[in-house]
Amino acid sequence: MKVVYSDLHQNHDPQLFLLRGRFKRSNEQPERAYRLLSAVQKDGHEIVAPADYGSGPRACIHSPEYLRFLETAWARWQLLDDPSEEVMPNIHPFPGQPSSYPESVVGQAGFHMGDNACSIGEHTWVAATASADVATHAAQLVLDGQRAAYALCRPPGHHAYTDRANGFCYLNNAAIAAQYLRQRYTRVAILDLDVHHGNGTQGIFYRRADVLTISLHGDPRNFTPFFTGYAHERGEAEGLGYNINKPLPLGTDLTGYLPALRDACASVKAFSPGALVVALGLDAHEHDPYKGMRISTSDFAVLLSHIAELGLPTVLVQEGGYLSEDLGPNLVSALKGFETAA
Ligand SMILES: [Zn+2]
Repeated sequence: MKVVYSDLHQNHDPQLFLLRGRFKRSNEQPERAYRLLSAVQKDGHEIVAPADYGSGPRACIHSPEYLRFLETAWARWQLLDDPSEEVMPNIHPFPGQPSSYPESVVGQAGFHMGDNACSIGEHTWVAATASADVATHAAQLVLDGQRAAYALCRPPGHHAYTDRANGFCYLNNAAIAAQYLRQRYTRVAILDLDVHHGNGTQGIFYRRADVLTISLHGDPRNFTPFFTGYAHERGEAEGLGYNINKPLPLGTDLTGYLPALRDACASVKAFSPGALVVALGLDAHEHDPYKGMRISTSDFAVLLSHIAELGLPTVLVQEGGYLSEDLGPNLVSALKGFETAA
């Protein structure tokens, strides 16, 4: 399978990450991409560099204010009195209360950054836009006739909303790829296997009927992102019925996962899309630091084989999956499962 990869992610190495009240180095490190790349290289996949797609694809998904903020925030932050190395929010607007868009970069950080897991450093914008190009290029390969292509995106994207970063994500790569595929296909489906709910993707398409969003993830009652990912969130207005959440108990193994995946695939089939985007998180793995589920390395092949059997042009977009010895093998297994069944 063609693997799209750009090394422009490597200087994005967020150091500020607030977890349960403690500052830690982010789990979302460049080493993740190196391990994924090395694994697919060793397995004989062809690596291709993305073209530069300019601002068009990201502007179809994200607001102009948000894109301007992401691009300029770090440089503006450095002009503050005694600033931190990375942009981090410390005040937020209150949902449902009257509020105005602030001029100050401190206020804008609170407006556009949903948590303390998406700090912005000097190189974040370059990495995020390159990651969006990687996803767009994989979508272009599929439009050009490839049955499937894999986008080795870093930073990941599925938590990013139209105008808000969170959970290591800045630009929603899967949403950008899906919208790009809409050039040709009337309907596109996004199937999110990351162990965390694809909250940003849900938010972006929540009122639309042309993009079906399905997410399988750890039950948010006790797992991030907590506020979304419940089965009753089904879309709104025209989009009602086109968002499907399948929260699964923490610790779910293949036996528990497969029925939910089969249901999800049946919903994709019923929607009859022209193409599919898989938000391919690998953090449901049993040894992932998040410990949300107990999917094994070989199980990923099983999951992806079911998805391949849908017979759709498919863009696989890398989401989460954190440092463990199994990260590279998990990706190789997933791609093998897809290719064997395709
Ligand atoms: Zn995740």
